[in-house]
Amino acid sequence: MDPVEFRARAHQMVDWIADYLETVGQRQVVPDVRPGEIRDALPAAPPEQGEAFDRIFADFERVIVPGLTHWQHPGWFGYFASNSSPPSVLAELLVAGLAVNGIAWQTSPAATELEQVALDWLRQLIGLPEGFHGVIQDTASTATLTAVLTARDAAWARVGRSPVLSFYASEEAHSSIFKAARLAGFMPEGIRRVATDESFAMRAGVLREMLAEDQARGWVPACVVATVGTTSSTALDPLRAIGTLAKAAGAFFHVDAAYGGAAAVAPEHRAMLDGVELADSFVVNPHKWLLTNFDCSAYYVRDPELLMRSFAVLPEYLKTAADSEVVNFRDWGIPLGRRFRALKLWFVLRSYGAEGLRALVREHVRLAALFAGWVDAAPGWQRLAPAPLGLVCFRHLPAGTPEGPGLDEHNRRILEAINASGEVFLTHTTLRGGFTIRLAVGQRTTEERHVRRVWDLARSAVAGLG
Ligand SMILES: *Cc1c(COP(=O)(O)O)cnc(C)c1O
Repeated sequence: MDPVEFRARAHQMVDWIADYLETVGQRQVVPDVRPGEIRDALPAAPPEQGEAFDRIFADFERVIVPGLTHWQHPGWFGYFASNSSPPSVLAELLVAGLAVNGIAWQTSPAATELEQVALDWLRQLIGLPEGFHGVIQDTASTATLTAVLTARDAAWARVGRSPVLSFYASEEAHSSIFKAARLAGFMPEGIRRVATDESFAMRAGVLREMLAEDQARGWVPACVVATVGTTSSTALDPLRAIGTLAKAAGAFFHVDAAYGGAAAVAPEHRAMLDGVELADSFVVNPHKWLLTNFDCSAYYVRDPELLMRSFAVLPEYLKTAADSEVVNFRDWGIPLGRRFRALKLWFVLRSYGAEGLRALVREHVRLAALFAGWVDAAPGWQRLAPAPLGLVCFRHLPAGTPEGPGLDEHNRRILEAINASGEVFLTHTTLRGGFTIRLAVGQRTTEERHVRRVWDLARSAVAGLG
């Protein structure tokens, strides 16, 4: 593609994206495709000769777009949102055009320094204390793995490799937490799931007992993970109590606030971070709720030296004259090559300002509370967890129905009927073993009418099931 064609095509692509974002709400949220259907519509082998852009783009529209799930649809209520925004998209375009690789300061000084500045701005916006140093990771899963490897190495440095290292997170913690413990080589018996209370938050008293029991048998508590906003129900683990126990046991304390941390841009949500100053590390995902398109996960550490003890490398071919004066982010995580993600976060933070981000979070929390209120007021419906942020967990409970497979199936069919509308998309979880419908409000363009539509669809589904 020559520069003249590139310029014309680039304008065409931006027009396409602008049209898409304006009209995505008219599309069916989730496509009707069978497994393998998209693959079958594509040639099995690559072309020998390069093809014209028109042909490639025509196939994009004909084959690929119909197989997409529209995460930026205003009727998106599944999982947690992975939201985006026009300024973020524009920055991403620039990033692709620049295609710099932020391995080290030297490989693009502005990439490293903007990452430091943008992450310090975000730290201030969510009220994390000074003394936390940020780095962007691709996902919270990677950030947590980084934390757990740091924790393991710190424990090994203290006690050597013989004792069993133990690991603690609540039974409601994200799958990535337990995956990280497994990947870091914790023994299955040393990976402890701490029981939760009626609000699905970790019981600090149970953690205290487990720590004591494990220390009594000679195990070494290496890592404790608390969650601010669990994935199933946005439960808020008590950070101060957990952090105090972790510190007393000599364990590394990591806080997973992948989703919930974003809400702290609004001061009325800061109480959930009480005790966060005890944390050794903290992760929040701007790619979930802060308008920065995937991927952009903000990982903060108290002690970069400790982090670098696990991750720093310095082969001859990577040495630079600036090494003694600068931060080389390759030493702050697993990959060597690094995308210039800070640019999109910086564009977003400047475009929206603290005020714009607070307004976004407040509107989503308001919509979730509104929906929770409808559920609470409606006979035959039941809310299954507190809704402190943008998520409502609920189900239909006809009078006299016992817990069990029948009730679960009834709600599974309600969820299927809601989603069959194509207008909205919700997902499910289980809470205390029972099938639970989740309404996760977090898409940038979601309005009250979309939330009302879910409630109408849910009630019609019940009528339809008879
Ligand atoms: C979404 C989520 C994660 C995983 O986030 P990725 O960035 O997709 O790895 C981890 N923890 C919690 C609490 C989450 O909600």
